[in-house]
Parts: sequence; C-alpha cells; structure tokens
Amino acid sequence: MLIVLKERNNESLIAEVQDLLQRKFGCPSHIIGGNKRVLAVTGETSVIDIEYLRSIEGICSVDRVDRPYKLASREQKDRTLIKVGKDCVIGDPKSVVVIAGPCSIDSEGQLDESTAMAKQRGVKILRGGAFKPRTGPYSFQGTREVGLRMLAKAGAKYGMATISEVMKAEDLPLFEECVDLLQIGARNMQNYDLLKAIGKSKKPVLLKRALAATLEEWLLAAEYILHGGNPNVMLCERGIRTFEQEVRFTLCLGSIPALREMTHLPILVDPSHAMGKTRWVKDAALGGVAVGADGLIIEIHPRPQESSCDAAQLLDFEHWNECMDGVHAVAHAIGKTVI
Ligand code: PEP
Ligand code: MN
Repeated sequence: MLIVLKERNNESLIAEVQDLLQRKFGCPSHIIGGNKRVLAVTGETSVIDIEYLRSIEGICSVDRVDRPYKLASREQKDRTLIKVGKDCVIGDPKSVVVIAGPCSIDSEGQLDESTAMAKQRGVKILRGGAFKPRTGPYSFQGTREVGLRMLAKAGAKYGMATISEVMKAEDLPLFEECVDLLQIGARNMQNYDLLKAIGKSKKPVLLKRALAATLEEWLLAAEYILHGGNPNVMLCERGIRTFEQEVRFTLCLGSIPALREMTHLPILVDPSHAMGKTRWVKDAALGGVAVGADGLIIEIHPRPQESSCDAAQLLDFEHWNECMDGVHAVAHAIGKTVI
C-alpha cells in the first residue's frame, strides 16, 4: 500500500500515520524517497481501513498495490477447473458449458418436459428454482423442499447434474442432499453469513453478481467462500441495475474479459435474467460466448406462458433450438466445444 502526503517533510504527520498503522493494524511502514512524502506499507494490508486513512487531513492519496482479494486473484493461478456431477468440467478454455432448465420448478410434469428439452440439446447440468427470491411477498415463492426433491429425481432420471438457489444456511443440508451445484442468487451475493456457511460446504458454487456490485465487491464475496475452505467457486454475470429501463438489466459483457485478468475462477453468463424477454435471450447468449464466458445458464420451458415465474424470458422449443444452434456456431468459430 502506498500513502502519499500532501506536504513534504511533515514529520509529525508521518509519525502519527506510522504509529496508527503499526498500533491499529499491525502493519510496518517506511518512507520512500528523500522528500519524505511517500510511505510504503507492508504486511497484511487488507486489514487496513483505507477510507479512514484517506479521510486524514494531510493525506493526499492511499492506494493498494495488492488486490484485497487474495485467494480469488489471478496471481494465485491461471485458471480453476471445477468438476460438476460425474463428467462436466467448467473453466476449461476450450469449452463452453450450457446449464439449462426452468426458472421455477412448478410440477413434476413441467420439470420433466423442460429436462427433456435440455437433454435433447446435450445439456449436462439441469437448473431449477425451488426456493425463489421474489421482489414482493405476494409473488409465487417456489415449491421449496418438494420442488428440490423433484429436481434431484429429474437429474437422476436423465443422468444430469443439478443446480438450484440456496437462500439460507439452515437449508444447506437439504441442498447438499439434492443438488450437485449450489447457486447463490444476485440478491444474496452480499449475505456474508450465507457465504461463510457455503465456504464450509464440499459442493461447488455458482455465485451470481449482485444488482449493484462492482467486480471487486463480487470477487470479495467469492473470497469469503474460498477463505472458508471451498475452492470451487464460479462467477455468473447476470446483468446489473443501471438507468436503462427498456432491458430488464444491463448485461455487463465487459466484465468477462476484465474478470479474466483479475481472477482464475470460471465465469458464466446468464442471458435470461439480464434480458428479461424471450426474443432477446439468444443474442445475449451468443455475446457471452463471443467474449469468452466459460458457460451459460439459460431458462427454458415447454410453454412459457404457464410458468409461475419469469414467463416473459423463458425459451420455448423454437427459441431454445435457435439459441443452441447459435451457441454452437459461435463456440466453433472461436475454437471451443459446447458441453
Ligand atoms: C435465478 O437464476 O433463478 C435467479 C433468481 O437469478 P438472479 O439471482 O440472477 O436474479
Ligand atoms: Mn428466473
């Protein structure tokens, strides 16, 4: 960490700041250069309250040299490969993994038909929401444990791995029994107690980006899980909230190449929640593959109008097939295989 003072040779401020760094944060520091304006701080600088330092009168700037997320950082390694279920690896630079299934699990019949749709296009990981985080309390809240057990059954029947969103730590044992991949939804990305609990799980995790999270905040959320002992975290860009109202969220495709430089964790794209309209999902999916995402998570349904949740954005047979044709074409064009 580098601290630049406003004035040169301000001995009393230097002494005050050095004392604070040592006493409060246990970090040694030393002066760089003859004009006594710059302090280099060493040690475990991630514990330092950087905003407090910046607020001190006489300090011009404070900058971290090291990233505050250590385990998630690309400095650790190039890439993490995550095995999901028996035979699906996410993070291989030569492949694109497609996860698909309904937004919510409404009934056994609907789930079965959606799973067959996914299976037909070679999908190896089935998604399905059972515990639904809805904006209002009057909206459908999900089929909960019953739905989760249906998902496990469908996965077993079709030989697919499964993913579903877990909203609270107390439900983890149930999820560990029923799914292969734990999903943390956008609304829970900063639920730190949940992240800590997930850090203790042996299951891989898909961590969605919160509606207003910066890339650094998102990686710090991943850091909680990694720090807890779970190394298998993948990120999922699902669009952020901006001033734009025409599209459900603003899909931040630029985050994929940027994250690639920042982290070794696999990065996926959710074109469904980002776009919010069936007819726009394919284009966003293709964009995600083109910018180098390791995978996609897509909502599908045989008859979207019947869905209890997100009917406007679900892909029916025709849109799903068109989307997968495009995904294969773009993946092929950039030397990747869809799995
Ligand atoms: C979902 O994938 O079911 C979901 C609710 O997505 P998000 O958390 O991105 O809104
Ligand atoms: Mn949904």
